[in-house]
Amino acid sequence: MSERIYMSSPDVGDLEEQYMVAAIRSGWIAPLGPDVNAFEAEMAERIGVEHAVALSSGTAALHLGLLGLGVGPGDVVVTSTMTFAATANAIVYTRAEPYFIDCELETGNMDPTLLREALERLMRDGEKVAAIVPVDLLGKAINYTEICTIADEYRIPVLADAAESLGAAHRTRAAGSFGRASAVSFNGNKIMTTSGGGMLLTDDVELAANTRYLATQARQPVAHYEHIDIGYNYRLSNLLAALGRAQLTRLDDMIGRRRAMRERYRELFAAVDGVEIFGGVDDEEDNCWLTSIVVDSVAAGWHPEDLTAALLADNIESRPLWKPMHLQPVFSGARGLVNGNANRLFERGLTLPSGSALSESDIDRVLSNLSEFIGWRS
Ligand SMILES: *Cc1c(COP(=O)(O)O)cnc(C)c1O
Repeated sequence: MSERIYMSSPDVGDLEEQYMVAAIRSGWIAPLGPDVNAFEAEMAERIGVEHAVALSSGTAALHLGLLGLGVGPGDVVVTSTMTFAATANAIVYTRAEPYFIDCELETGNMDPTLLREALERLMRDGEKVAAIVPVDLLGKAINYTEICTIADEYRIPVLADAAESLGAAHRTRAAGSFGRASAVSFNGNKIMTTSGGGMLLTDDVELAANTRYLATQARQPVAHYEHIDIGYNYRLSNLLAALGRAQLTRLDDMIGRRRAMRERYRELFAAVDGVEIFGGVDDEEDNCWLTSIVVDSVAAGWHPEDLTAALLADNIESRPLWKPMHLQPVFSGARGLVNGNANRLFERGLTLPSGSALSESDIDRVLSNLSEFIGWRS
C-alpha cells in the first residue's frame, strides 16, 4: 500500500524544531512565558488588531469571546449552519441557543439576506439576539462589509469565526480584524499550527483583559487565589507559542503552496463537465486553506463518492464539505433559516488534498489518480 496522503497535514520542519528547542532551553516550560507574549504581539501586528490572547484552541477563543460579549442562558446566537461543530458547540457552552443561517451557494458563507430576515423575525418576537457568529468557510472571508452593516443596524455584536481564514482578507483588510472580536485556530489541520491552539483577536482592551482573566481560572490578583467568577484553563503553553512563532514566519509561503495546489486542480478540472472549484471565482484574497470541488453528478456522470473511492484505493484522503449543523443529530430541533444551499453543498462538494506539506511526488500521485479517474469516466 502506498503511503497515506492526507487532506491537510501539519507543515512543520527544522525551523519549528529550532524555535521549540530554544523555548525548552530557555526554561520557560510552565505554561506562560516570553514566547506567548511575543506570539501575541506578532499575531496582533500581522492581523492589524490591538490585542491578541493566545488560547488552547479556537473553540476556547469562541467560548471566551461569547462570554466576553455577555452571551448567556436564554440568549440567541445567530451563526452559519455551514461550519464545523466547534462554532455551534461554543454557543451551547454558554447555554445560549444557536440559530442556524444558510449559505450562499458560491462561497458557503452565511447569506446576508437570510441573516436580515432571521434578525427581523427574532426581534419582532422579542427575543434577545446576543451575538452574530459568521464563519469564513475554508479560508474565504465572508463579505464583512455587508454582514457588519446589518449587525450594526440591529446593534448586535459580531464575533467572527476566522478559524479557517488566517491570512485571508476582505477588501485588503485581514480576516480576524472584523467585528468586535475574532477567533482563530492553530489546530493541526489548519493553515498554520501550534499542534493545538487558538487566539482571540480584538481592538477592545476590556474584552482582551476579560479573556485573559477567564482563561487563567479567573484568579484575582492576590497571593491566596481568590475567586469571584468561574474560570477556565484555556491558555496556550509557551512551548506551543514558540511553534506558532516559527509557523507565522512561514505563513505566506504556506499560503502560496496551497494556492499553487489549487491552480493545479483548476487546470486539471477546467475541461471536465459538471465540476467546479468551490469558491474559485474570485479567490485572490482567500488563503486557499482547503480546495474542494463541487460536482453536478448529472453533467459529470459520476458522484463525489465515486471519486473518494478511487482515491482511497491509492490511499489518498478526500472528504465531503462540512455536514451542516441543522442536519446534525445533536442539533436536530434547533431553529434557523435554511434554504437548501448548505444541503446541496454537502451532497455535491468534495475536499481534495490541499496541505502545504505535500511533496512533489505526493502532488504527482494525487493528480495522476485524478487524471486517470476523469479519463476513465469520460
Ligand atoms: C477548526 C475550527 C474551529 C475550532 O478550532 P479548534 O482549534 O480545533 O478548537 C472552529 N471553527 C471552525 C470553522 C473551524 O474550522
